[in-house]
Amino acid sequence: MIPGAFAYHRPTSVKDAVGLLAQFGDDGRALAGGHSLIPMMKLRLATPANLVDLAGIAELKGTRADGDDVVIGAMTTQHDLIGSQLLGDKIPILRETSEQIADPQVRYLGTLGGNVANGDPGNDMPAVMLALGATYQLTGKKGERRVAAREFYQGAYFTAMEAGEILTAIRIPAPPAGHGYAYEKLKRKIGDYATAAAAVILTMNAGKVASCAIGLTNVAETPLFAEAAGKLLVGSGLDAATVKKAVAAAEAITAPASDNRGPAAYRTKMAGVMLTRALARARARAA
Ligand SMILES: Cc1cc2nc3c(=O)[nH]c(=O)nc-3n(C[C@H](O)[C@H](O)[C@H](O)COP(=O)(O)OP(=O)(O)OC[C@H]3O[C@@H](n4cnc5c(N)ncnc54)[C@H](O)[C@@H]3O)c2cc1C
Repeated sequence: MIPGAFAYHRPTSVKDAVGLLAQFGDDGRALAGGHSLIPMMKLRLATPANLVDLAGIAELKGTRADGDDVVIGAMTTQHDLIGSQLLGDKIPILRETSEQIADPQVRYLGTLGGNVANGDPGNDMPAVMLALGATYQLTGKKGERRVAAREFYQGAYFTAMEAGEILTAIRIPAPPAGHGYAYEKLKRKIGDYATAAAAVILTMNAGKVASCAIGLTNVAETPLFAEAAGKLLVGSGLDAATVKKAVAAAEAITAPASDNRGPAAYRTKMAGVMLTRALARARARAA
């Protein structure tokens, strides 16, 4: 329960943080809220010799509108997401999801950037980012680049982020006013990671689904974008038969582990149940 020895660094700019990470190579690791990394270090599953704490970098914090996008600094905490008026108005699924992550103590420190950069399929925000069509802004020694969330996740704890890069911000195209949304999560108890969860963002036009994007949490090595399921629903009035087909399409792309949250077949079925609930709630909320 005690981490290995490490040196602690606290830069005050992205440039300095990137410089330190480049200098340390495999011996360095970015530290955000520490609520995934420090437990891993205590279990000695991670043993970085240098921690580069991003907490002193003001430019990584805060939320702003940028044209039709909302840009959220990577060090914005889950607690900040819940309290943001801008996000409550424009992207309310972020508040709904944050409220289902862990408990207030974790949310006071845990950051959006850490949650999406971590690569743990149990993290809740990645599936929401897939449904929202978010883009991640990364900065490294070679400069800045942007990667679509839908292309970011490659395996458990394996992402498109290169060694020495820092995630600086998450850019989200604000869904149209009147969109429907829901994040439905099955967990064993308050504060637990998902047995299965589903994020839905949809728009309606004259009683028919005009667009529908679906993300799934913790039912594969990566968060899943259930593209075929979303497409099946477009043009429908979300009648029971079409929803059943879409849910089957979503279940078909899952490949969960059998673990203490249940056997694989059960977790797949629970992903379907969460998706059915999320679709109904998103439909009820859509204008
Ligand atoms: C009891 C408990 C329950 C929890 N339950 C849930 C839950 O239900 N759902 C959920 O989603 N999460 C849960 N978490 C995890 C929590 O949300 C973490 O805060 C989050 O996963 C990681 O964010 P962090 O800011 O703490 O990142 P850290 O732990 O500091 O970092 C995590 C990883 O991301 C990297 N990293 C962080 N920020 C950046 C960046 N800006 N650029 C590059 N790399 C970066 C780090 O190097 C590290 O590898 C739980 C944690 C605890 C302790």
